Amino acid sequence: MILTKAYAAYDQKSPLAPYQFERREPRPHDVVLDILYCGVCHSDLHQVRDEWGGSMYPMVPGHEIVGKVIRVGSEVKNFKPGDRAAVGVMIDSCRHCANCQSHLEQYCEEGMTGTYNAYERDGVTIAQGGYSTTIVTDERYVFRIAGSLDLAGAAPLLCAGITTFSPLRFAGVKPGMKVAIVGLGGLGHMGLKFAHAFGAEVSLVSSSASKEADARRLGAHNFILSTDERQMKKYRSYFDMVLNTVSANHDYAPYLKLVGMNGRMMVVGLPSKAPHVEPFDLLTNRRSITGSMIGGTAETQEMLDFCAAKNIVADVEVIPMHKINEAYERMLRNDVRYRFVIDLASLKNQ
Ligand code: NAP
Ligand code: ZN
Ligand code: ZN
Repeated sequence: MILTKAYAAYDQKSPLAPYQFERREPRPHDVVLDILYCGVCHSDLHQVRDEWGGSMYPMVPGHEIVGKVIRVGSEVKNFKPGDRAAVGVMIDSCRHCANCQSHLEQYCEEGMTGTYNAYERDGVTIAQGGYSTTIVTDERYVFRIAGSLDLAGAAPLLCAGITTFSPLRFAGVKPGMKVAIVGLGGLGHMGLKFAHAFGAEVSLVSSSASKEADARRLGAHNFILSTDERQMKKYRSYFDMVLNTVSANHDYAPYLKLVGMNGRMMVVGLPSKAPHVEPFDLLTNRRSITGSMIGGTAETQEMLDFCAAKNIVADVEVIPMHKINEAYERMLRNDVRYRFVIDLASLKNQ
């Protein structure tokens, strides 16, 4: 067994604290990663605080994992020790249903296996995430990271990146389309970068006036302050697609009104309370609301390769492991520019 240092939530109220546990010895198809960086996603915070229900403790969060391969199982062909590699939001799925076979494993008919706060497929082992020194994962759910990408900046691509890349691709975002990204946080700032890279006219809808300069620097053509009714009215029925990344409980109505004829609002944010929707806002312009969950294994690798070709990474603030509780509080105050990333060297040297 591989002794692994980590930080864990012991219950939904206490601060995260040091924790040690054992990872399995690699099976024939496993890759062992020495974790170098792990991004801090708002989903980590939702689950640590049990905002979606059913959280299991002790919980080692973290699903934006990058590192170096240190060992591989006997059957592994695509990775070797020394390679840069990554693990995202899922570590397994049934592998035989129609969705798994189409590499849409996140929609596995039997349910995907999350990287943490989930039972592995043996039904007994509780998966633990990337706020830790090592992870052992089946190669099907491990990705290659091109040498040109900065590793700390690449970590958030594994969740914030793919979660915004996938719906923008699904909606066919291209030059000539008008796209609004709601919320300039971890997901929002990646959505902005991708929509810009795909050639769309991108607007950033934010509740924080202080983020305007950053939004424009990151590629926004327009900045819309959601608390200013005049600005929201100006863009009514304007967009082909609105990508909603808001983490807090909120009303969908003001954002839905921005959607134009036959357009859609795609939801990726996961507030704990069901949002209110007005049927009239759906009937007008024949609007629709759809959701999107991370991305499958093939699309995740495609996104990482796209980022390497275009030199796209997240804007990050690197923190040592022991600052995680402070980072959570800052995330709740909207004080993140635009993703915290944990440097795991800080835990190894403790
Ligand atoms: P984040 O970095 O905290 O960003 C959330 C943003 O929402 C904030 O930066 C803020 O942007 C905006 N916001 C916060 N409170 C608001 C309010 N009361 N009204 C309007 N806007 C508000 O979080 P994240 O890591 O990007 O995650 C965003 C959400 O996506 C979370 O709920 C997370 O669980 C979910 N998620 C879903 C998937 C998926 O597969 N679908 C994957 C990952 C994460 P402004 O300051 O610009 O308003
Ligand atoms: Zn996430
Ligand atoms: Zn499946």
